[in-house]
Amino acid sequence: YHASVTSDCLFCRIVAGEIPATIVRETETTLAFRDINPKAPVHVLVIPKEHHADVATLGRDDPALAGQVLATAAEVAEAEGLVTDGFRLMFNTGPYGGQEVFHVHAHLLGGAPLGPMLA
Ligand code: 5GP
Ligand code: ZN
Repeated sequence: YHASVTSDCLFCRIVAGEIPATIVRETETTLAFRDINPKAPVHVLVIPKEHHADVATLGRDDPALAGQVLATAAEVAEAEGLVTDGFRLMFNTGPYGGQEVFHVHAHLLGGAPLGPMLA
């Protein structure tokens, strides 16, 4: 993919090891690391290593990779002990969705009751 993306995109730089992150799981195609500003006791971001801007483009261009992001999220949920009580997995997308980093990432949130989705 695009060489320029790696230097311009925060999460590509985390994949490249240029910016430190607390990595909790890594596969050949995905990376999971703790959110720097956690909104719940467990707040992990799960990304494809390859740059895709958002979940709409990822789902359209590489649905298999989208599935690998979900599989990694499920593995982290299990490893973090979230499965019994439950958790939230979400993709903020575009301006109305509140997306701030345009390298697709799933937010995995859990460890306490999360309340209504939009609160
Ligand atoms: P968005 O609003 O794009 O869905 O979420 C971006 C998330 O990335 C936010 O929850 C924010 O705290 C997190 N974030 C921003 N910069 C960094 C960083 O440098 N490292 C880590 N680990 N998370 C970050
Ligand atoms: Zn990127």
